[in-house]
Amino acid sequence: MCWQPEFETLSRERLEALQLERLRATMAQAAKSPCYGAKFAEQGIAPQDLADISRIRDLPFTTKEDLRGHFPYGFLAVPRTDLVRLHCSSGTTGNPTVIFHNRHDLASWANLVARSLYAAGARPHHVFQNICGYGLFTGGLGFQYGAECLGMLTIPAAAGNSRRQIKLMQDFGTNVVHAIPSYLTRLYDVFVELGVDPVKDTRLERLVIGAEPHSEETRRRIEGLFGVKAFNSYGLSEMNGPGVAFECEHQNGLHIWEDCFVVEIVNPETLEPVAEGEVGELVLTTLDRQAMPIIRYRTRDLTRFLPGTCPCGRTSRRIDRITGRSDDMFIIRGCNVFPIQVEKVLMEIPQVGNDYVIVLETKEDNDQMTIEVEVSREWFTDDYGKLESLRRTIAHRVRDEVLVTPHVRLVEPGALPKSEGKAVRVRDLRG
Ligand code: AMP
Ligand code: ZN
Repeated sequence: MCWQPEFETLSRERLEALQLERLRATMAQAAKSPCYGAKFAEQGIAPQDLADISRIRDLPFTTKEDLRGHFPYGFLAVPRTDLVRLHCSSGTTGNPTVIFHNRHDLASWANLVARSLYAAGARPHHVFQNICGYGLFTGGLGFQYGAECLGMLTIPAAAGNSRRQIKLMQDFGTNVVHAIPSYLTRLYDVFVELGVDPVKDTRLERLVIGAEPHSEETRRRIEGLFGVKAFNSYGLSEMNGPGVAFECEHQNGLHIWEDCFVVEIVNPETLEPVAEGEVGELVLTTLDRQAMPIIRYRTRDLTRFLPGTCPCGRTSRRIDRITGRSDDMFIIRGCNVFPIQVEKVLMEIPQVGNDYVIVLETKEDNDQMTIEVEVSREWFTDDYGKLESLRRTIAHRVRDEVLVTPHVRLVEPGALPKSEGKAVRVRDLRG
């Protein structure tokens, strides 16, 4: 139930045949929902008309607004009584959306998470500690059932309470931890406070990080702090949650499970497929979901296909780490900026700590970007000259990257407010 060569190493030809068969079944299932039923009837769409998988392009897109507009049951394709669980998205960009699952869906999801964890090196003899919110957020139960499906002793540690997390790790000899990246850097501070060395005093072997955008530099930092590899995990509630795309031991992009999702990358303006290797918006179609199939979902997440094959032998394509969401880009003084560009610059500077926030304000009719940056614990000083020089370095390097000179405010380690779940990196206070 974890390494599945019959799906993970399919030739392109066989994979596409499987996708076509599953897509037709998915469309027939989706047609039972009020929303797709009406849409397909109106546009004269029938599963059997789909000649090959590339014709998925003839099907309509589905957006978050569609899901919200038909809340709660408009996309439901099974009787209400078949449902066994619902999850909601975190609603970082507005009202949440709800996704329903029946038993089949939950088993399929757990299997995908197990497969993902296995790809990242988790094995049944490992102890897995899941440090994230249990509840409507999919990272909790999603990883719980996936890790159990793989056969690991799984600790449902949930979010927060860092001292207890460290104690759990020590008491039960945790080998694999899943957490969001912004939390792990905070957890490390608590290790330091307690005088516990994550390398020598725990049995940690690997980390799984995801659920929020993070740069390669942040990943390397986290790996440096904990002395183990950190594997990127990507997913979204609309496509179950975690277990959509995952890094294997080679850490060279995320394998995206194409036997269970049709994967497209489109230009967000024209909605046409991008040229091979170009960045665009990820569009996903479920291929193994019954209660709530979703066709051509516009994720808003930006990525690209990576070229070449992976030495691990898996044949599913790999996508690059998500560089941001098309809707978290902000425009300041005419320049388009993704928060991750700022993060990348900050994390390359050793004197910079692990947390930052970008504040956008209008002052005297001018838009202004201020970056509040925690200084690293090891380097922290009250020498004004040194701080001033760091401040200038940050401002210059950020300007070189995003073409806007920011104001930089340095703060003590740990001084920035922390959110319970995903980190809030931009505070836009402009009208
Ligand atoms: P939710 O549905 O609330 O779990 O949020 C899913 C969203 O989180 C995705 O659409 C991405 O924007 C973001 N996300 C999840 N995993 C990653 C990741 N590994 N890297 C970057 N962003 C991620
Ligand atoms: Zn691989």
